[in-house]
Amino acid sequence: MRTVAIVVAAGSGVRMGLDMPKALMPVGGRPMVAWSLDALADTEEVDGIVLVGPPGWEEDTSHAIGALVDLLAVVPGGATRQRSVARGLAVVPDEVEVVLVHDAARPLVTPELAGAVVEAVEGVDGAIAAAPLADTLKRADDDLIVAATIDRAALWRAETPQAFHASVLRRAFELADDETLDLATDCASMVEALGGRVRLVPAIAPNLKVTTPPDIALAEYLLRASGVLVDE
Ligand code: C5P
Repeated sequence: MRTVAIVVAAGSGVRMGLDMPKALMPVGGRPMVAWSLDALADTEEVDGIVLVGPPGWEEDTSHAIGALVDLLAVVPGGATRQRSVARGLAVVPDEVEVVLVHDAARPLVTPELAGAVVEAVEGVDGAIAAAPLADTLKRADDDLIVAATIDRAALWRAETPQAFHASVLRRAFELADDETLDLATDCASMVEALGGRVRLVPAIAPNLKVTTPPDIALAEYLLRASGVLVDE
């Protein structure tokens, strides 16, 4: 087994105003996490999937994923995203060479994007899906007065999936302190902190992160537009 994907789905639904984990809320008539699991199961470059699910919701998670995809393991997540990734990484088999980490909150991921990210890890330490910025950027002071306009030419939004040589990612987690595990918002930043080289893979199609309630309708629209969600 060369490449394993870890899907982190253990976040709460607080920002969505939900009393259930965000990854299990319905998007296009199925639990949001199902879209990512399907896409990664269809990715030729991915040989197995580890799902990091919401602790305390084991039964609902198994019910939600049902016979969808054959998973290597389902493990309960930790208190922060990076602690959840660490739990997933702990069950990735030793012989695996490349680990792809993906947020369940990005249901628009495609097999093409995930495959391109896995391929792009060749010759560098990691590779991440990323999108160029469309807006003009301002830095403001505390009174919301613009202090500067930032040149956006070299700026990108980091997305998931993110792929790393397994040895590099394991080392980044071994060396991470509590502050990093509590505050880091992606895996690439931990690899970069060790001097690792991380390549950007431009995500051409929208790869929206579902964060607030209006994002659900937008995600459904985009899933429909791409032909993945077909109404009966
Ligand atoms: O909270 P946010 O949307 O930034 O989380 C990004 C991803 O990390 C989501 O897919 C979420 O389910 C996951 N996560 C997790 N464990 C946590 C917090 C977030 O698996 N404790």
